[in-house]
Amino acid sequence: MDQNATAVRNALINNLTVPAFNIPYPPMMEPVIRAVRDEDAFAFIAVARIEWEKLGAISPAVIAEEFREYDDARHVSLHLDHVPVIDEDDLQVDWEPIFRQGIEHGYQSLMIDGSRLDLEGNIEVTRRAVEIAHSAGLPCEAELGAVMGHEDGPQPPYEELFRTKMGFTDIEQARRFVTQTGCDWLSVAVGSIHGSVRGAGGGAEKVEARLDLEHVERLQEATGVPLVLHGGSGINRDCVQGGIRRGIAKVNVASEIRRAYAGELESSGDEQAACELVYERTRSLLHDYFALTGTRRAIIGEGG
Ligand SMILES: [Zn+2]
Repeated sequence: MDQNATAVRNALINNLTVPAFNIPYPPMMEPVIRAVRDEDAFAFIAVARIEWEKLGAISPAVIAEEFREYDDARHVSLHLDHVPVIDEDDLQVDWEPIFRQGIEHGYQSLMIDGSRLDLEGNIEVTRRAVEIAHSAGLPCEAELGAVMGHEDGPQPPYEELFRTKMGFTDIEQARRFVTQTGCDWLSVAVGSIHGSVRGAGGGAEKVEARLDLEHVERLQEATGVPLVLHGGSGINRDCVQGGIRRGIAKVNVASEIRRAYAGELESSGDEQAACELVYERTRSLLHDYFALTGTRRAIIGEGG
């Protein structure tokens, strides 16, 4: 059945969230799934195009194959993250074949990212993506607003972005976008950042992001759909918890576990140690940061 749609819907109803862990290197799969199981939680395992184009994920097929080695439907399912229409290098992407590959390889939900298009362009392409996903029986996530951090080049300091709500998802645009596209989940910009963004001091260190909780609440009311938070690691914990209570029913986690893996691999060259660090980081995120220990049944329902 429609496991991913049910999971996110149940998360919304129960003031919980479904974390989606990105796997940019196949060896990260096993420790992440083991951590989710050991916390008796439920999570999505995700991969984005940028992770097979620029990191070590190789292809959506390879990640799906690795997933099936350790698959446990009571705890995890597959999600295809960020299929961009225009990518981070401003190049046009032939996204439809990627969507179809995702369906073919058993991904249980798909994300189209038309956020680099103007509003009308984003609506048009998202509507088409939703049609394709729905005709395969899958939910479709879309993005509206500019979650900062994937772009290169200088950006204003974080505090200035937050204060001026620069790039935040507009409430009325979100209402119209969801109505006209039929997307199931909406990725919104409410203060989070992808990857590293420079702090006010100009250093490359990632700043601790906050969320505009009132804005989250208004977006959820206006759209009526579960909201998705990207750049889910490195946000103030109370903000994340507050966002979850106000409709953020899916949170993407990419850089935090990737850095644990890549950092350890670079310093010690020990893949086993790198995997154990990923395991510990994932468990601590589930337990301390998201407070999701023991929530599996509330997410996937009593049958699980
Ligand atoms: Zn993202």
